[in-house]
Amino acid sequence: MAREILTEGIVLRRWYAGEYDKWISFLTPEHGKLRLRVRGARKPTSKMGMLTEPLNRLKARVIEGRTQKLVAQPQLVRGYVPLRTELERLSIALALCETLDRWLPDEHAEPEAYATLILALESLESGVPAEWVAAWALWRWLAMLGYSPDRERCGRCGKALPESVEESTDTTNASRVACASESVSAVLLPTEGLLLCARCAAQHDGIVFTPESLQRLQRWMQGERLSVGSRPEVGQSLVRAALRYAECVLESPVRWLEFWARLNTLRENG
Ligand SMILES: [Zn+2]
Repeated sequence: MAREILTEGIVLRRWYAGEYDKWISFLTPEHGKLRLRVRGARKPTSKMGMLTEPLNRLKARVIEGRTQKLVAQPQLVRGYVPLRTELERLSIALALCETLDRWLPDEHAEPEAYATLILALESLESGVPAEWVAAWALWRWLAMLGYSPDRERCGRCGKALPESVEESTDTTNASRVACASESVSAVLLPTEGLLLCARCAAQHDGIVFTPESLQRLQRWMQGERLSVGSRPEVGQSLVRAALRYAECVLESPVRWLEFWARLNTLRENG
């Protein structure tokens, strides 16, 4: 990195330092995730404080000091204000930022991970159901980080993994589809990173994919843009699957899952 750069990025996380300063984890497309000190951010008169809060997309100068990098002259590009007015969307957006902060190494450019986060935030903002946004982003990031199991063939017997049934809103097909959606299409063994067909997986304990969730996974891992199904439980199962897998392959926190359960309880209680 040059001694001073002008860059754009998103604040993923912040923590405090000393009496007046704070640190931010700032994800940029061309320099990856940077840890930056924001001088004076906690002084009551500081504009920097508000600007450098998580979820804000900024244009800023980054100055390379002797022992640390500093932020100067941040300007707000986008604050995702509509996201901040609704607890569920805001929580998911912040959880995605925190997850990416934990998963990405420092100062390693990952423009696609950045683009995925931007698209996820914009989708949440425009009202795309949160579970689908989260599932898509998490699986895309896992694929980018190199944790992409072979989706086409069983990892034991080599048999092609079944093409799943198309989702249908046709009522005559509804019961057949609902029934097929509950069946096991493949099982992911997280420690080995292998997807097994239902027959080979019979003896194993792993992450279960139904025909519908397997089809989504296959498409997303090939790079397909965010697509949304009609059944929220499929999206939620894909989120849980991504997090369980990540717990094994990365050192990802379990808090996300607890958070998700809490959110569902809130929803059920209205
Ligand atoms: Zn098999």
